[in-house]
Amino acid sequence: MFNTRVKIKALLGNEASGYPATVMGWVRTFRNSQFIALNDGSTNSNLQVVVALGLLDEATLRRITTGACIKAMGEVVPSLGKGQRVELKATSIEILGDSDAEKFPIQPKKHSLEFLRENAHLRFRTNTFGAIFRVRHALAFAIHQFFNEKGFVYMHTPVITASDAEGAGEMFRVTTLDMHQPPRHEDGSVNFAEDFFGRSTNLTVSGQLEGELGAMAFSDIYTFGPTFRAENSNTTRHLAEFWMVEPEMAFYDLEDNMNLAESFIRYVIQYAVTHNREDLEFLAQRLEEEEKQKPQAERGDMGLMEKLDFVLSNDFERITYTEAIDILLQSPAYKKKKFQYEVKWGVDMQSEHERYLVEKHFKKPVIVTNYPKDIKSFYMRLNDDGKTVAAMDILAPGIGEIVGGSQREERYDKLVARMEQLHIPASELWWYLDTRRYGACPHAGFGLGFERLVLFVTGMTNIRDVIPFPRFPKSAEF
Ligand code: ATP
Ligand code: MN
Repeated sequence: MFNTRVKIKALLGNEASGYPATVMGWVRTFRNSQFIALNDGSTNSNLQVVVALGLLDEATLRRITTGACIKAMGEVVPSLGKGQRVELKATSIEILGDSDAEKFPIQPKKHSLEFLRENAHLRFRTNTFGAIFRVRHALAFAIHQFFNEKGFVYMHTPVITASDAEGAGEMFRVTTLDMHQPPRHEDGSVNFAEDFFGRSTNLTVSGQLEGELGAMAFSDIYTFGPTFRAENSNTTRHLAEFWMVEPEMAFYDLEDNMNLAESFIRYVIQYAVTHNREDLEFLAQRLEEEEKQKPQAERGDMGLMEKLDFVLSNDFERITYTEAIDILLQSPAYKKKKFQYEVKWGVDMQSEHERYLVEKHFKKPVIVTNYPKDIKSFYMRLNDDGKTVAAMDILAPGIGEIVGGSQREERYDKLVARMEQLHIPASELWWYLDTRRYGACPHAGFGLGFERLVLFVTGMTNIRDVIPFPRFPKSAEF
């Protein structure tokens, strides 16, 4: 048996000392041929492994370099060093994997986030990315725990689909046809009947439509999986491949939906704050240092921990789209022509407008409801005014839209009429329409972009830094 080690998190978390232990991990630094800072990824903290003079020969000492992987056996003893209760007094050290100190890209110094993005395969071995991805894990785990406690069924919706839930383009095609000589119809268009699935298919942009089918049987379901959008948006908030959480609930109206979304966001943040305090405090420190580089006016007025506490203890603001537009029209920013994009009833709010509402006006997360139907999807429930739909977007400080959701149109005639207006062929969505034919009920759901949540909780500013291997235009390395 090889795995006789104790994880560094467990070792450091234990008050005791005076017992033998084996640890394994990667060397962060090696000082004075005596002190190894060892990290195994279980915690942000390194374990100090002390190598007594004379324990190892010169050749072995030279192999203890930044990045090398080692196994250390010894005794856990009280530490004289600052910031640690215990350390390991080594009795033997074995090099498991050498690392050429000259070539290893992750040196014990501050690297830029851009540099680390280019070395995404190794960036997990830094304090910042160690913390980010442990927090990401905690949030993913908390998502399952939250829904499981509430009796939701975790449903796996397909990754390859023939439907486009948004009724828009921006999809990645999935095909096995020969790109150079695809089979063609007489008019020259590609004949997808000869493709693998006998039709044209793509990667999913959302699991919602299939999720609704589940809700019409289990009452409450959620999906949590990868979604794909071929949108050419090179922003700090968009990825071509991202993870989405999509709960879908029978017997919910828009207000029930908002209440669930709010308690869901609080629950998962609380989970991370409770279980990953050390990582979050590290990230808070990082953010504080980053903020210091900025001019005073651009600095946030809350630290990361304060911001998370604030979200945990304050209700989100809830306003209608119409109210939001009024606020924008009354705003000093509008009057001073600070907005680049047009503001008037009917337009899709741009990021600058969302950020104004959240960061300047309300200074807290805001839920905007009842959007004009023409800027929202066909499946959203038409309000009695005939102009707006029962939609809700949650906007978060520093991020913008984090959740998009709605009460769904359960009335068959209204749904079909809307699809006709938007030229969405009912023949392709016959299975979706069946839910409205057989036992329809009021229901609602939302989609939360998981990486946007991770951005919010970690205080990072670029979405490419919160997913292990980001996919965006012209980039699919690793
Ligand atoms: P945005 O206006 O920011 O592009 P959207 O209106 O296209 O968002 P939805 O289709 O409602 O978003 O998707 C639900 C959620 O998925 C969004 O609230 C957001 O959190 C997330 N999301 C959408 N597109 C992306 C993307 N390209 N990368 C990462 N997350 C995304
Ligand atoms: Mn979008």
